[in-house]
Amino acid sequence: MDFLHTQLSVVQRQLAFVATDNIDWKLYVQSFSWAVTLFESYLLIRQYPLYSKTKPPPALASHFEPGVFEKSQAYGKDKAKFALFSGLFKQCLDSLMLQYGFYAWSWSAAGSLLAKVGYGPEHEIKQSIVFVFTLFFLSSLPTLPLTVYSTFVVEQKHGFNKMTPGLFVTDLIKSWVLSFALGAPFLAAFLYIFKWAGDRFVPWLMAFMIGFQLIMVVLYPTVIQPLFNKLSPLPESDLRTRIENLAGNLKFPLKHLYEIDGSKRSSHSNAYFFGLPWSKHIVIFDTLIQQSKPEEVEAVVAHELGHWYYLHPTKMMAISQLHIFTILALFPAFLHAPPVLRSFDFPKEVAAQPPTIVAFLLFQMILTPLEAVVSIAMNAVSRHFEWEADRFAVELQDKLGDSAMADMGDRLGQALIALHVKNLSTVWVDWLYSAYHHSHPTLTERLRGLESFQEKRQKKKE
Ligand SMILES: [Zn+2]
Repeated sequence: MDFLHTQLSVVQRQLAFVATDNIDWKLYVQSFSWAVTLFESYLLIRQYPLYSKTKPPPALASHFEPGVFEKSQAYGKDKAKFALFSGLFKQCLDSLMLQYGFYAWSWSAAGSLLAKVGYGPEHEIKQSIVFVFTLFFLSSLPTLPLTVYSTFVVEQKHGFNKMTPGLFVTDLIKSWVLSFALGAPFLAAFLYIFKWAGDRFVPWLMAFMIGFQLIMVVLYPTVIQPLFNKLSPLPESDLRTRIENLAGNLKFPLKHLYEIDGSKRSSHSNAYFFGLPWSKHIVIFDTLIQQSKPEEVEAVVAHELGHWYYLHPTKMMAISQLHIFTILALFPAFLHAPPVLRSFDFPKEVAAQPPTIVAFLLFQMILTPLEAVVSIAMNAVSRHFEWEADRFAVELQDKLGDSAMADMGDRLGQALIALHVKNLSTVWVDWLYSAYHHSHPTLTERLRGLESFQEKRQKKKE
C-alpha cells in the first residue's frame, strides 16, 4: 500500500502546476470538445456518400430481397443526417453551458435550494447530490426532443419503432427515478470515501467501484431489467435443447435461459449472457428467435459462449479498472486546485476550498481528449474479441469432437446476415468511421473472417 502511495505522490508532484498556475482551462475544454465533435462530423461526412451506392457488396448481393438494400441505405442516410445534427446541437449546448458558467450557477442554485430547507454549505454531500441532479435534469431537457424525434420519426419511418408515447413517458420517468434511487446513495458513498480516506482515497475508491459493479451484475437482471422488459423462460423446444446441450458440453454454468420481449420497444434483435462466474443466464431476443432457424440461433449463442470461454467480459472489466485507476491517480492534482474552478467561473469562496464533486466534474471535462483515445482503443479491443468469438464458433467441432457442428461458421454467417438485413444495418462502411465508432467488425469483414477461420482449420487438420 505504501509503495502505491509513493508512486501516486510522484504523479502528483508532476502535476503540481495545476494547483498554482492560471491556465485557461475553459478555453482548453472548449477547444478539445469542439475538435472531437468536428472530427465526428467529418467522419459522418466521409460515411455519407456510401449511402448512395446502388448495389450491396458482392458477397452480400444474393442475400438481399429486392428493395431491402435500398431500404437499408435510406435508413442509414436518415440516421447519419440525424447524428450529424444532434452531435452539433449537443456540442453547441454544452459549449454555451460552459461559456456562461452554468456549472457554477448550478452549484449555487443547489446551495440556495438546500438553504431553504435549513441545510448550510457545511452539508457538502447533500449539496453535491442536488447539484448533480440539477445538472442532469436541466441538461437532459433540451435533448429530450432529439430522443423523441429519433424514436417517433426516424425509427418509426423505417418500421423499427414499437414504442407508444405512453410507454416512452413511463420509461423516461422510471429511468429518472431509478437514476436517483441508485445515483444518490452511490454519489453519497463516493464522496464520503474521499472525506474519510483523505489523500489516500485511490485504493479505497477502487474497491468501492469494483464492489458496486459486482452488485450491479446481480441487481441489473433481477431488479432493474424487469422494470423495462419481460424475461420469460425459453419454452421447451428444439432451440432450448440445442442451447442446453451446447452449454453442458462446454461446462458453461447455465442457470437460466430466457427469452426477452425486445420487440416491445424495437424490432432490433440480439442475444447475450450475464451473471456471476458460477451462475450464468442467457437471454435471447424474441425477434431473433422469430427471424432465424433454431440452428442459426444456436450459432449466435455459440459466438456468445466464445466470449465467455475467452473471458472477454472479465478482460473488459480489468481494462476498465485500469482506466478508472488512471483517472483516480491523476485526480488529486485537480482536487485542491482553486485556479481550475476559477477558470470555470466559480466564485472565489467556492474555489478556495473546491467541493470534491465540482473538482471531479471539471476534471472529467479536462480529460475529454484522453477519453476519446481510450474509446478508440476500447473499440479496437472489442473488435478483436469479436474475431475470437467468431473463430471459437467455427472451431467448436474440434473442441467438442462433434461433426454436427462442422457448419457452425455457415450458420453463424446466415444468422448475422439475417440480423443485418432485418435491422437494415449499414453494409458499406468507411474504414475510419468504422475504426472510430464500431465495437464490432462489419458484416462483410466477419463473413470473410468466418470463411478464413474455416480454411485455416482445415489446413491445420491436413
Ligand atoms: Zn460478440
